[in-house]
Parts: sequence; C-alpha cells; structure tokens
Amino acid sequence: MDEVFDVTIIGAGPVGLFGAYYAGFRGLRTKLVDSQPDLGGQVTALYPDKYIYDVAGFPKILGKDLITNLVEQAVQYQPAIVLNEEVRSFEYLPDQTIRLVGSGSVHLTRVVLVTAGIGAFTPKTYKRPEFDRYIGHGLYYAVRRKEDFRDKDVLVVGGGDSALDWALNLVPYARQITLIHRRDGFRAHADSVRKLFDSPIGVKLFYELRALRGEPDVTEAVIFHNKTNEEEVLQVDAVLAFLGLLSNLGSIKTWGVTLEDDAIVVNTKMETNLPGVYAAGDVVIYPGKLKLIATGFGEAATAVNNGAHYIKPEVSVFPGHSSTIMEKAEKAAEKEAARQAR
Ligand SMILES: Cc1cc2nc3c(=O)[nH]c(=O)nc-3n(C[C@H](O)[C@H](O)[C@H](O)COP(=O)(O)OP(=O)(O)OC[C@H]3O[C@@H](n4cnc5c(N)ncnc54)[C@H](O)[C@@H]3O)c2cc1C
Repeated sequence: MDEVFDVTIIGAGPVGLFGAYYAGFRGLRTKLVDSQPDLGGQVTALYPDKYIYDVAGFPKILGKDLITNLVEQAVQYQPAIVLNEEVRSFEYLPDQTIRLVGSGSVHLTRVVLVTAGIGAFTPKTYKRPEFDRYIGHGLYYAVRRKEDFRDKDVLVVGGGDSALDWALNLVPYARQITLIHRRDGFRAHADSVRKLFDSPIGVKLFYELRALRGEPDVTEAVIFHNKTNEEEVLQVDAVLAFLGLLSNLGSIKTWGVTLEDDAIVVNTKMETNLPGVYAAGDVVIYPGKLKLIATGFGEAATAVNNGAHYIKPEVSVFPGHSSTIMEKAEKAAEKEAARQAR
C-alpha cells in the first residue's frame, strides 16, 4: 500500500490492458485497478463470445481471445493487478505524488492513466417485475455463452450494435431468430444493418415487447406493432433485450478533471487538465473521437509515452521501435547471464 507506483491505470478494459503493456515496456512500475472481478472491461462483461472484425492485425477475433492476448502481452512486465476495487477519490500529496483511495485500499502513484471506459456500466433492464422475474428463465440482458442458445427460438429486442451483433452472431447456433425494433432507423453500424437484412433473421420494425408468458421459463412473447397496436404471439425459448447501457463515471467526476458529455477532455498528448493525469479509450473526448478499441490502443500508447516523459523528463516521449528495444534487452540479459557464469 505504501509503494509509490510510476503509473496506476484505472480500468482494465482493452485500452487499460494495452496501456499496462506499454508502461511495462517503458520500464515503468505499473498497477492496474478495476472494479470488475475480471480483466477485459466491456469485452469480457458484455461480449466475450462475439467476433470483433476491426482490430488491426486480426481479420476476425473472438472478444475473449483478444483479451487473452492483451493479458499475455501486459503481464510480461508483471504489473500489480487489483480487481474488485473501485477507485473513488483522488488527491495530490505535497510532493505531487497522487493518492487514490479505492473501495478496498489506497494507491500511491506518480502518474494516473484513466481508462475507465463508460465507467461502471450495467445493461439497462425493463425494471418491470412481470418481465424481470424471467431473468435466469429465458430473459437475458447480455450474452455470456453462445452455446446457451443452441437450437433455441430466440427473440432479440433492440436496434443498436449489441442487438444486431448478437442476432448475427447467434445465427449458426439458434434454430430461429426474430429481431424486433421500435423504429425503422438503427443505431447499429451500417454494415451490421446490411448483414441483418441479408441474413435469415426475421426483422419486424415498429414492434415492441408487451408480455412474456411461460412457467417457470419463457415459452411465449407477446409483441405489438406500435402504430397499429396489432398483437402477435411468438413461441420463444429465449428473449435477448438490448435496451442500452447505464454508465456512470461515478466519483471520477468529482476529481476536478474537465468533462464534456460525461467524458474526460484530453489534448493530443492524452493529458487531462490535471498534472500527471492522462486518459484514453472510451472515457475520453476530443474533436473527432471514435469509441473503438483500435483508436483506444493508439491513445493508450500516446498517454503512456507522454506519462513516461512526465515522470522522467530526461527520457524521450518516443519509445523507439519495439524490436530494437527488445533486441537490446535480450543482449543485455545474455551478457548478464555470461557474466554470472564466469
Ligand atoms: C456489444 C458491443 C459490441 C462492440 N463491438 C465492438 C467492435 O466490434 N469493435 C470495436 O472497436 N469496439 C466495439 N465495442 C466498443 C468497445 O467494447 C469499447 O470501445 C472498448 O471496450 C473500450 O475500451 P476501454 O478499455 O476504453 O473501456 P471498457 O472496456 O469500458 O473498460 C473500462 C473498465 O474500467 C473499469 N472502471 C470504470 N470506472 C472505474 C473505477 N472508478 N475504478 C476501477 N475501475 C473502473 C470498468 O469496470 C471497466 O472494466 C462494442 C461494444 C459493445 C457494448
């Protein structure tokens, strides 16, 4: 608890994990803290079994495999990892060391990298007892295992990325999939919308869920057309409702970082307005920001390298090329081994 780390990364999603790798690579003593029980952020919590197609170098990779690779890359440098720990308060000590207080312990650090994503997030639920009593009995707000839907008749509710991604990902598993959406405009990527209409998924626009039936498990869903009020009863084994995410940056908002639209404002070095506090990934905002894993990776590298220079002004921001640095490290290790053998 008394050890002062060079960098403490708040949030172990894909961006925080890559930041931890980069910080280790720069020789910084690094700590990674997350409020969730597992590493991987939204990817682990919301779509471990979904394919991701837009991470450089991987034409297609399952969410959980991407996280496994990121963890393997990050742990090479043995960062301290603290899970189930929500970082709550922030203060500067007189020597500019930063003191963070979490739900379970205190963290001392020279630099903070906030990669808190959309904050502590939970899927929105219907909050209607007549629906939510089916949670665990056929009503799902997230998918953990695609196998759970093998040979099932599935109803997907929603028009965002989660709804379309999951409907498409479950095609090879489910017996039949129907997707209902309350409008005719989709928030999902245009490419997913194209794929949806080219798929065997039955799409019903302007439909909403009215009731679920079955005892104890869901067997029927009553849907209605929100313009004509016409009802239809679907025989289903599973209802996947993607109503959006409730996110909350929580106490980070009280630290004094400049915020805009619930996100942390950063400059091109990924610096916040607070000295020694950097941010990257879904949590940041700047002109042109895209909330994607690919952009978050670049931001993490920028933040950590600028953070390294902040801690030790004598080191350059540019890290050098990884191959050259690794070759030098290997040669130094070989020299050391030879010296010890003598
Ligand atoms: C269904 C779905 C599909 C998606 N598909 C794609 C895709 O195909 N391609 C793509 O590029 N992106 C996709 N995304 C978006 C992508 O998942 C995010 O851009 C990415 O996860 C952002 O990573 P991050 O590390 O910034 O944040 P997150 O993944 O949100 O991780 C942030 C972590 O910070 C932790 N945290 C927050 N506050 C605190 C605190 N105070 N103390 C400690 N820990 C804290 C959280 O618990 C969380 O684990 C998708 C998102 C969803 C929901």
